Formats: sequence, structure tokens, C-alpha cells
Amino acid sequence: MAEAKSTELMEKLVSLCKRRGFIYPSSEIYGGINGFWDYGPLGAELKRNVKDLWWRHIVHRRDDVAGLEATIIMSPRIWEASGHVDTFSDPMIDCKTCKGRFRADQIDEIPCPQKPSKCVQDCHGEKTEPRAFNLMFTTHVGPVRDDSSVAYLRPETAQAIFAQFKNVLETSRQKVPFGIAQIGKAFRNEVTPRNYTFRSREFEQMELEFFIKPDEVIEAIHGSIATPGEGHPGEPQPNWGWQIWHKYWVEERIRFYESIGLPRTTLEEYWQTPEELAHYARATVDILFQFPFGTQELEGIAARSDFDLSQHERFSGKPMKVFDDELRAAWKQLDESKQKDLRQRYHDARLGYLTRTGVESEKAAQLAKEDADGLAKGQYVPHVIEPSAGVDRLILALLTSAYSEVTETDAKGKSETRVILRFHPRTAPVKVGVMPLLKNKPGLVAKAREVRDLLLPHLTVFYDDGGSIGRRYARQDEAGTPFCVTIDFDTIGENGPELEGTVTLRERDTSEQTRVKIDELLPLLIEKSR
Ligand code: ATP
Repeated sequence: MAEAKSTELMEKLVSLCKRRGFIYPSSEIYGGINGFWDYGPLGAELKRNVKDLWWRHIVHRRDDVAGLEATIIMSPRIWEASGHVDTFSDPMIDCKTCKGRFRADQIDEIPCPQKPSKCVQDCHGEKTEPRAFNLMFTTHVGPVRDDSSVAYLRPETAQAIFAQFKNVLETSRQKVPFGIAQIGKAFRNEVTPRNYTFRSREFEQMELEFFIKPDEVIEAIHGSIATPGEGHPGEPQPNWGWQIWHKYWVEERIRFYESIGLPRTTLEEYWQTPEELAHYARATVDILFQFPFGTQELEGIAARSDFDLSQHERFSGKPMKVFDDELRAAWKQLDESKQKDLRQRYHDARLGYLTRTGVESEKAAQLAKEDADGLAKGQYVPHVIEPSAGVDRLILALLTSAYSEVTETDAKGKSETRVILRFHPRTAPVKVGVMPLLKNKPGLVAKAREVRDLLLPHLTVFYDDGGSIGRRYARQDEAGTPFCVTIDFDTIGENGPELEGTVTLRERDTSEQTRVKIDELLPLLIEKSR
């Protein structure tokens, strides 16, 4: 029953998105292409708002994060260093009967292409053994198509941040702890794209790599490390170790989602178990959202140790260590046993990393010793906390959360159910609809155009003069527009001077209408859209 309801909701959402110009299937006139979606006029605005809000929250609102915009195609060596060439794969199986190709871990859930209403298991076809299928799209750079020209479309935006770490550090005047943020396209040749835009083959990510000092360095400088308590840990402090920074970013990201209209009750935190964690990760929290098809990942926030920068240091031969004069000064003040203890812990962590990544034991011992010696000189490889979110999944979450239906009965007893998208004004694609009461009265139309032109430089406006005013309000409700402004005969003084120069401001969520002076309209709407 619950399943039928959520399928129905998904169907309604998909059809609304198509009908109102939020999301269309890519290349639809040629029958579409599986796993690719286009955003129409309303969807493009919604997406732009979401990305701007993230950027403002993560980059502009703080002084410890710098932005980056890197290329989609990068040196293939980046993907060797990151591990994507060897391990970024899903287990895939083929059905010998229906010729379907499936992710081995999702076999029970996927419809058979021959009998779409049935589970693939009903196909009873013989299945091949699972094989690793690399999810990266390949291409060739330059005119020669051979192994030496192979390149990849990036499967995540994060690696460019690591590869450009030193350049950003040197040009942005930042010091650890600080972050680098990037928004951009990512590509994964998903075996089974599904759940609408949730699992696409081309999508966008909003990623932050927040670089922090290793715990041994914090301890050397501050004597001890602050540990996280319940809830948001508050303003960042110099004695924070990785655990509290990780907690901070989980809480910050949840606050962000709440600030753009996703209630905390629709979100869940999932802490990956030690068995689920990647070998280099110390902790990963997935922020899950209650999508109609189940509670699933919206964003992952991982404490990734110093794995990524260390990998790029090894693969590129370029140093990724930072120099920290605070550490060098503090180290000299430590007594010998403390130095020994911190040095040993740092050494063991480095040796662990080197050994796990296959460095031959003698070499690993030598490198780990050099790294540990570096502490006394104020040198270390920064650790990183990575909040990584998908734009498209967030758009789908916002659409799901905003979707509501109201049933209204008119004076003749006729009932009608209509859709209202209750977007937060910050994310709403159109902030205000401007409408002359009648389109055949030049005085009304001229004034309405004046109001539209007053608002246009500051807010997204939709001018609508077609059909009854009730229909026009309903159209804006369905698009999620939070405010409508109507220009009527009072506005142009036809009913006396009292209300001249005022308009009706209607609010989507309450249907409340108030009279507002045109002079006061712009600041009021800007305030309400914040
Ligand atoms: P999943 O387990 O759902 O495949 P993931 O753990 O592989 O996701 P990450 O590699 O952590 O995802 O990517 C970070 C974010 O990018 C995800 O939380 C999600 O929002 C988004 N994302 C990842 N893959 C896709 C996809 N195929 N389509 C849309 N968004 C995606």
C-alpha cells in the first residue's frame, strides 16, 4: 500500500516536472537516452538557486574557504592516484535469457526488460558470474585513438581540488585549516541508472575539501584535542581534531538543508560501520533523505585522513606537505617523551597508509621515518573532511518536499484538486508573479509592466496576463512561486485616490492577500525572499 502510494507520488512528480518545465528526458525527440536528464526553464532556475545558495553558504559566508573551477577532463594519472582506474567499479551480471545487464547487488529490485512489471528473478534466465565494471566514461584526447590518448570524464569533482591544492594554498593566502570548494559536472557510467534523476550517468556535484591539521599536530601545539559533544560544536576552535571537525561539517550541512526548506524530520544521519568504511576513511556519515522510493543518500561527509594528498604526492612526485611555523615553534617546547609519543603515533599512521597502498616495506619504513622527522621541522600532509553533495539529488529532494495537493470546492459544489509546490522562497525558481487584473485595459497593463520592470533587475519575475486571476494564481502555485502581485483598478486610482499606487500581494502558502504600496514592494519582496 505504502509502496503503491510512493510510486504514485513519483509518477505525479515526474509528470509535473515534464509538464511545467522542470525536468525533461534528454534527447527526447530521439527516444531519450537512459540516465540523462535536461532541466527546463523552471528546473534551470531551481538548480541555479541551489548552487548559488551552496556557494554562498560554503564559500562567500566564510573566510576559510576558497573556490575552484577545474576542467572535466584531466590527466589520467589523477585517476590512477585516486584509485578510480583500479577500483571504481560496480559488480555487474548479465542475464543469458533476457540479455539484461544488472548490478549484482540490486538484482532483486530491478525490472526485467522483457517483463518490466516483473522482478528480474521471474525471468529465471541463467546469470553470468559478477564482473567488475569500471564506471568511468573514457574518451581520447587528440587525433590518435590509442592507449596513450585515453582520458576520462571525471567521476567526481573532488580530485581536481587535491591536484590543485598547492596552487590554491599559495595563491589564496589561506592556512590550514581551510577549504577548497567546487561545483561541477561528474559522469558515471552507472550500470542501472534509476529512480528518475537520483542515479544518473551525468550529474552535478557540490564538493568541499576542508583541510585540517593531523591530531598529532594539534596536540603538539595545544597540548590536547577537543572532543565532540552533542549537537553543533559551534564556532571552529584551534584545538579541534578531525572528529570534531567532522561533526561540525555534518551539523553545518544539515543546517544548510534546513535553511533551504528540507525539514530535519525528512533527513537522517547514517554513520557507516567499520566494515563499510573505505580503508583510508576514519568516519563517513551519509545524510539521507526520505525520497518517495526510499530513504537514500543525499550527501556523504567523509573524514578521509591524509590519503588523497598523500596519493598525489606519491604519484606526481610533487610535495603536498605544508609548513606550519606554529608547529615548529611548539615542537621545540615539548618535553622529550611527548615528542617521542607524538612522533611514534604519526610515524605509525604514515606507515599504515604506505603499507596499505602497497609500498614495498623497506621503502615504506624509510618514508614513514622521513615523514615523522618532518614534524620537528613544522611539516605535515594535511588531513581532509569532505562534504560531497549531489545537485540533482537535492533538486529531487526539494521537489519531493515541496509537493502538496489541495482540494477546493467551489460555490457550485464542484471539487478540484490542484498542486502547490511549497518551495522555500530562497530556492523558488520564480519569486514573484506580476499580473494585471485584465489584459484588455491599457491602464492596468501599463502599470503592471511598470511594476514588472521595477522588480526585474532584482528578482525572478513571471508576467502573466492570460486567463482568470484564480487560474493565474493556480499556475504560479504549481510552479512554486511564493508571491503574486496583482494590479487592479484601485492601483490606477479608478476607485478613488485612497488605494492609488497600491497593489495586492498574495502569498502562496496562506493565500492571504494584503495591500502594499508600490514604493514599498521591492524591499518587502527582497526581504521575504531571503
Ligand atoms: P551511491 O552510493 O548512491 O552510488 P556514492 O556514495 O557513490 O553514491 P559519492 O561518490 O559519495 O556517492 O558522491 C557524492 C554525491 O554525489 C552523492 O551523495 C550523490 O548526491 C551524488 N551522486 C553520486 N552518484 C550519483 C549519480 N549517479 N547520480 C546523481 N547523483 C549522484
